[in-house]
Amino acid sequence: MRVLKALLPVFLLSQFLVSQTAPLHSIDVTDLDRKVDPCSDFYEFSNGAWRASHPIPATMVRWSKRWESGETTKDKLKEILDTAQQDTGAAKGSTEQIIGDYYGACMDESRVNARGIEPLKKWFAEIDAVNDNSGLQPVIANMHDILVTVPFNLSSSTDPHRPTWVLADIGASGYALPDRDYYLKPDARFKEAREKYVKHIAKMFTLVGWDEKSATSGAQTVMAMETRFAEVSLDNVALRDPRASDHNSTFAQLQSMAPHFDWVGYFKHNQIAQDVDLNVDQPKYMQEFDQQLQQTSLADWKVYLKWQVLHASANALSAPIVEEHFAFFGKYLRGQAEMKPRWKRCVEFTDQYLGEALGQKYTEKYFPPEAKARAQEMVRNILLAMRDDILTRPWMSDETKERAMAKIATFDIKVGYPDKWKDYSKVSVRRNTFFEDYLAGRRFVVDDDRGTIGKPVDRTRWGMTPPTSNAYYNPLWNEIVFPAGILQPPGFDNNAVDAVNYGSIGVVMGHEISHGFDDQGARYDYVGNLRNWWTDSDLKQFQQRGACVANQFDNYFIEPGVHHNGKMVLGESIGDLGGVKLAFLAYEKSLKGKPRPPDVDGFTPEQQFFIAWGQWRGDAIRIEEQRVMMQADPHPTGKYRVIGPLSNLPQFQEAFSCKADAPMVPSADKRCEVW
Ligand SMILES: [Zn+2]
Repeated sequence: MRVLKALLPVFLLSQFLVSQTAPLHSIDVTDLDRKVDPCSDFYEFSNGAWRASHPIPATMVRWSKRWESGETTKDKLKEILDTAQQDTGAAKGSTEQIIGDYYGACMDESRVNARGIEPLKKWFAEIDAVNDNSGLQPVIANMHDILVTVPFNLSSSTDPHRPTWVLADIGASGYALPDRDYYLKPDARFKEAREKYVKHIAKMFTLVGWDEKSATSGAQTVMAMETRFAEVSLDNVALRDPRASDHNSTFAQLQSMAPHFDWVGYFKHNQIAQDVDLNVDQPKYMQEFDQQLQQTSLADWKVYLKWQVLHASANALSAPIVEEHFAFFGKYLRGQAEMKPRWKRCVEFTDQYLGEALGQKYTEKYFPPEAKARAQEMVRNILLAMRDDILTRPWMSDETKERAMAKIATFDIKVGYPDKWKDYSKVSVRRNTFFEDYLAGRRFVVDDDRGTIGKPVDRTRWGMTPPTSNAYYNPLWNEIVFPAGILQPPGFDNNAVDAVNYGSIGVVMGHEISHGFDDQGARYDYVGNLRNWWTDSDLKQFQQRGACVANQFDNYFIEPGVHHNGKMVLGESIGDLGGVKLAFLAYEKSLKGKPRPPDVDGFTPEQQFFIAWGQWRGDAIRIEEQRVMMQADPHPTGKYRVIGPLSNLPQFQEAFSCKADAPMVPSADKRCEVW
């Protein structure tokens, strides 16, 4: 520990909540399903009655109190946008003008419908004007400018070998379905999805005026080209290893991967120097791109590119196109019964593309400084728990522990909203041109990202918008980030007892901290370098422990034949397992030296903590959405995020006095512990 221990800031572990006069609430006992034994199925026990009496709304694919609160945030955003929209005198380039006109244009559905497919024509004409395959570059570059990221993508990326520097990254992204398995696997459900997808593409083409025959053959063309791209794309498990996409390349190397593309013109268009530090995620994929440039006819390329522009901008077009897009991607694929009302979609677009402009207004109104201070304190308490936990791992050598301590000591904690806001004043938005406004927002996202390439990292930047009900860990910056949107009830509640706060947002905080030490995070050192800082034997031990968790999740089914892919959800599962344990340890520590909190309806404070986790995380999820998750989401379903980690924890089994043969108590050889 020697030197590094001294580096570790000493945080005082203090009570998360200030004392208040009003009684604090605890868990909701009416949400429990008491017919179920907590040691058999804690997901049902902790939250079953709530789910039974709160069916998933028609416009949602998941539902829980947490999702409900995320939707309530949108009511608040609507209020802000309605006010901005009414302020017709706002100065051009002011936040009010930009978000107000953007939202106002989006809400003007009759104008959007009256314009029909007219706004798309300019894009189709540009594609039609290409004379040969070697002339595709300017069109693809223009599409990239509006975030139509096919068949490859240019973005910024922190250099994993020099994490203070931003490099240009060429990624693979040639298809529209959620995962490559949809194109390649013989299972009936994928076959059906392919058939429906081809029909959907054809329908979309007829909606933009193509005759039946061209639409049908066009759909086949798109499917064939996307399938070829899917075949050479790495799968989600392979991509979990950051080394799989770590290919520092020179401009000349990129040219030799795909010599039939005009890279000189492409870099010039993007104002990126040829000697820029460059990474190519999937060189093999770029070779396939080149093959298609040589072998696929210009006519087919035109169909493919038209489809991608249409697909990416569908939500900004007229109602029949919006509805058809929803019918396949929302209703069929994810099981969402109904579209969200237009105002909510318009709020979501504003958040997505003008996120910090709207987010600044949101946090001014809804995120008090006290909330920030309390959340920061809580994160620090849980970081302390992680430090204590690592120091006591019997399988880890002092050498590796010392490096882990360095990582904990340098964790950057971001809470609420950025210290420095993005400047939107140059975004041109008008009240009567929603399609162009929509593209302007997407252009801003692209320019904002591109502008960072070839420069030192700006650590003030955020990867989520302030109203987002989510959080993340970024291993390259060794930072954990909690937007204001997640720091509100029911997860983070000023009026709730500590058991509830530690059991919900506390576990989320522990989860993000644990990401620093999951199968991906553990590959980065404390400054964000992608390098091995483990001793060989410690790394082996860590990987064996991870394999236990992967194996546990491989055995979780959502329906016969459809189960979790343990390796794909490994990082999130290590995060949950570590998160629950760390938050529990921090909670226990917070109880020391104080009068013991009262039982609630016979539930001890420890039991309340675990019930809080079940109530926060216990989402109801539509089966269609669960199927998509099994393929493409690194997160397990809500049910297994409750059952999985808790069944590994002796503290849970103790709290509920579970018998040794109970379903939530696996045999010792099956029990997993990473952190
Ligand atoms: Zn996570």
